[in-house]
Amino acid sequence: MTKITMYTKDVCPFCDRAKALLKAKGAQFNEINISTDEDVRAEMIERSGRKSVPQIFIDDHHVGGFDDMAALEAAGELDPLLGRYGHETFKETHHKLVVIGSGPAGYSAAIYGARAGLEPALISGLEVGGQLTTTTDVENWPGGADGLQGSDLVTQMREHAQRTGTVLLNDVIVSADLSQRPFKLVGNTGTYLADSVIIATGASAKFLGLPSETAFKGRGVSACATCDGFFFKDRNVVVVGGGNSALEEALYLSNIVSHVTIVHRRDHFTAEQVLQDRVQALVDKGNVDVIWDHEVSEVMGDAGEVSQLRLRGTQSGDEQIIATDAMFVAIGHDPNTRLFKDDLKTESGYLVTEGGKSGQATQTSVPGVFAAGDVADPVYRQAVTSAASGAMAALDAERFLTWEAQAIAA
Ligand SMILES: Cc1cc2nc3c(=O)[nH]c(=O)nc-3n(C[C@H](O)[C@H](O)[C@H](O)COP(=O)(O)OP(=O)(O)OC[C@H]3O[C@@H](n4cnc5c(N)ncnc54)[C@H](O)[C@@H]3O)c2cc1C
Repeated sequence: MTKITMYTKDVCPFCDRAKALLKAKGAQFNEINISTDEDVRAEMIERSGRKSVPQIFIDDHHVGGFDDMAALEAAGELDPLLGRYGHETFKETHHKLVVIGSGPAGYSAAIYGARAGLEPALISGLEVGGQLTTTTDVENWPGGADGLQGSDLVTQMREHAQRTGTVLLNDVIVSADLSQRPFKLVGNTGTYLADSVIIATGASAKFLGLPSETAFKGRGVSACATCDGFFFKDRNVVVVGGGNSALEEALYLSNIVSHVTIVHRRDHFTAEQVLQDRVQALVDKGNVDVIWDHEVSEVMGDAGEVSQLRLRGTQSGDEQIIATDAMFVAIGHDPNTRLFKDDLKTESGYLVTEGGKSGQATQTSVPGVFAAGDVADPVYRQAVTSAASGAMAALDAERFLTWEAQAIAA
């Protein structure tokens, strides 16, 4: 029998994602929590060569972190590693409404769709719960005056969707044919035929795209402060970016590490004012400093760990090298539209929707296919706006199917 070992820590969104993926496959794993035990922490670093959680081993094969396991899953290579062959469970099912994505947009669409009698099936994808699972405090969700944790909020949404009768499916869509009805969505464990589709695939974190960044991933380069910040307790770290995510990461890390340097390619932040004020207070205290108008051009290291970054002036073109123990990248997200590019109209990577005030605002360029949340929103990109557009998409789908049924009957 396959032996799976996963090193995790308390409060680790990517550990939660890895556990959810393995559980969805019915795989048993031995979890080793490194939060408080120095010896197992040293064992994990020794075995994996990485300072990042989770670290997953299948038998003696080092898979890596969640992203590495997700890449195997997307390529259809995880099942054979787990000893699962032939997709015994693979089947084709037909639904009135399929919602793709389990973030606020997807769950909201499912809740409204179920209440409209569309018996939705929701396909969770690899990032169960979506982006909110990677953050701690959500302070702007209406009704959450006492503060909410991102993962608690999406867990409540998931439970709510389930209670309305939504069929929740742990699968990832790998190809889509939206050129004819019923629409056809192929996942790793099933094929879904759909009379209507709501695409709520959100966005995924961007990296800088430097070869040296890839080489040091898990060895000081991270996109998750809550997962990996504690490996750099009392050390110096850099956060790259200037939006909400970057300042949130900097604020979180400032409680753990000795000093945070924010490297930003512009001369001002684009984050909300409240976050800028909090960061400024730490700059005044000396815990945080900011290097403006610079971008990282190379990650450098000693003995497989990050030790320096080469920076290039975005205005001046000058070069400088700064010492650091880690680089946390928080430069925004790319919309997950790759699967739909052949069938649907996109603009700057985002799905194009009808908009306007005469209904069907969430319809894409194909009637019957709707889009909600960050995947179609280059501007607002908030949990509450995503949830709102998910509701709109479900109402649009319901109207579309009703009109269609009436037209056929007439
Ligand atoms: C660090 C951080 C902090 C944030 N803090 C806040 C905050 O405090 N307040 C706030 O309002 N917003 C916040 N946001 C923004 C907010 O999280 C997003 O706007 C919101 O999650 C977008 O929701 P969504 O449903 O459109 O997509 P996402 O949350 O991105 O979810 C996308 C879903 O699609 C699924 N998916 C993708 N591809 C596939 C596929 N091929 N097959 C099946 N499923 C797929 C994924 O698994 C995922 O479940 C934060 C974002 C980040 C990164």
